[in-house]
Amino acid sequence: MELTVLGCGDAFGNGGRNNTSFLVTDQNESVLLDCGASTLIRLKYEGIDLESISTIIISHFHGDHFGGIPFFLISSMFEKPRKKPLAIVGPVGVAKRVYDLLEAMYAGTAAKTLEMDLTYYEYEQGKPIVIGDKVIHAWEVDHSLPSIPHAFRLEWRGKCIAFSGDTSWTDNLIPLSKGTDLFICECNFLEKVSFGHLGYSELLEKRSLFDTKQLWLTHMADEVIDAKDLKINRLSDGQKLSI
Ligand SMILES: [Zn+2]
Repeated sequence: MELTVLGCGDAFGNGGRNNTSFLVTDQNESVLLDCGASTLIRLKYEGIDLESISTIIISHFHGDHFGGIPFFLISSMFEKPRKKPLAIVGPVGVAKRVYDLLEAMYAGTAAKTLEMDLTYYEYEQGKPIVIGDKVIHAWEVDHSLPSIPHAFRLEWRGKCIAFSGDTSWTDNLIPLSKGTDLFICECNFLEKVSFGHLGYSELLEKRSLFDTKQLWLTHMADEVIDAKDLKINRLSDGQKLSI
């Protein structure tokens, strides 16, 4: 199984990086973890066929995490009409959020999604979502409340990948990371401690609480991208990780 970093930037395009999205691929099937606004461009850059993506999992309703879904959908409608089913997983209200966003960006197109083989799944804390051979668990995290922020983990074909979404420190990150093959954790700042995002110093202090084979940082502002000699690995766009 392989993970491709389509985007590990923050909301402000720091470092010239793309918005959050990770592509997990096993054989001929892929899953998108978040779908920020730049995701379709990056999928094209990587030469990925959208039909190979069976599932899109969304952490929360901010544009740098789900703003790419309208582009994905219009390409799947008009450019290369999609034949395969698509699952979109996210916080409560995900179907309406995606519908309304698509209609705002491409008026008159949202109703066409009703003709697609598209199924939505909503998070419910403590209850796994099962889609074929994929199991998804989500935890509430601490970020802008109207965005309904979550962290989630994907268990698929014997591997487990966790993603923090955007959050300040919450003890929910501990069970999230437990027994994972890969944990991607946001790290917006170096020293700053504030609501909604994590800092490197805080993460270094909590590092031993995580139970994962690989810990990688994402969603970094320039001060984290440019820092020297950090003791936790930082992702970069286009990077591929074996899981
Ligand atoms: Zn973000």
